[in-house]
Amino acid sequence: MGQNPSTPPAWGIELSKLWVQSSMPFPIKPIEIAYEVSKVRFDDKIAAIKGHNATGIDGMLTKSSKANEWFILYDETVQSKGRINFTIAHEFGHYLLHRDKESNFECSQSKILGYGNQQFIQIEKEANIFASYLLMPIDDFRSQINGNQFTLELLSHCADRYDVSLTACVLKWIQFTEETAIVVLSRDEHILWSYPSNSAKKQNIFFKKGTPLPQQVLSRIANIYETNTTFRYEPGVWHPNLDSIESLIISDKYETELFVIRFPNANLKDFEEESTFDTFDLMSWNK
Ligand SMILES: [Zn+2]
Repeated sequence: MGQNPSTPPAWGIELSKLWVQSSMPFPIKPIEIAYEVSKVRFDDKIAAIKGHNATGIDGMLTKSSKANEWFILYDETVQSKGRINFTIAHEFGHYLLHRDKESNFECSQSKILGYGNQQFIQIEKEANIFASYLLMPIDDFRSQINGNQFTLELLSHCADRYDVSLTACVLKWIQFTEETAIVVLSRDEHILWSYPSNSAKKQNIFFKKGTPLPQQVLSRIANIYETNTTFRYEPGVWHPNLDSIESLIISDKYETELFVIRFPNANLKDFEEESTFDTFDLMSWNK
């Protein structure tokens, strides 16, 4: 047995490679990988992965009180299948990365989402990063996008391929797209967080937490409130000088909206390269 990886991305990349190199088809199934890897590599294997009845808890990783083994439990009543897949990968991430720190992890949606003023917990972030790298290998994701521009259909195709939520896919896409774009999560008409693509970041396109949504967007939402819609705006709405194309991805019971906003006329020539950062610092996965 070689040395095991020590970081969330390294674990995710190694295990997704094992899956792909075994000629297994997409989607990658975290249940199968969790059983196999925990059994082969560790003394304290994962003994069972199954549904539970505890409402409000999306996923749990818990150590058996009797034997040196672990259980992953997930809320099987969640309607989105992709959300369950991501939750299982997230709990498996806790197993690989954090089980020496605690013997019981309970991951509710609000904990994972980090809504409101609740601070993101570092280990939740790491489990999400692992899950994203495991389920959506970047090379494969790029080949699916294949240089095409963002469309809801394209991202929906990826969500199906990887059996993850559309939100998870969008947050992966924004990290590597060459388009000038930003992902915005809002609640109660104000921005909770925004995440720019690399080229958007170079142009200082970013919205601070608490920024009100543009008035035109609020008016439009009040009249036509549907997800999976796309609107084009003149300059002065999402950006003072740039046209924007806005796709409303999600709106849900938490009264949040997730937008992808693209700036097709942005000109990158005058901007300096800046360091990149990681979307998973911010992300809201379990949709
Ligand atoms: Zn967690």
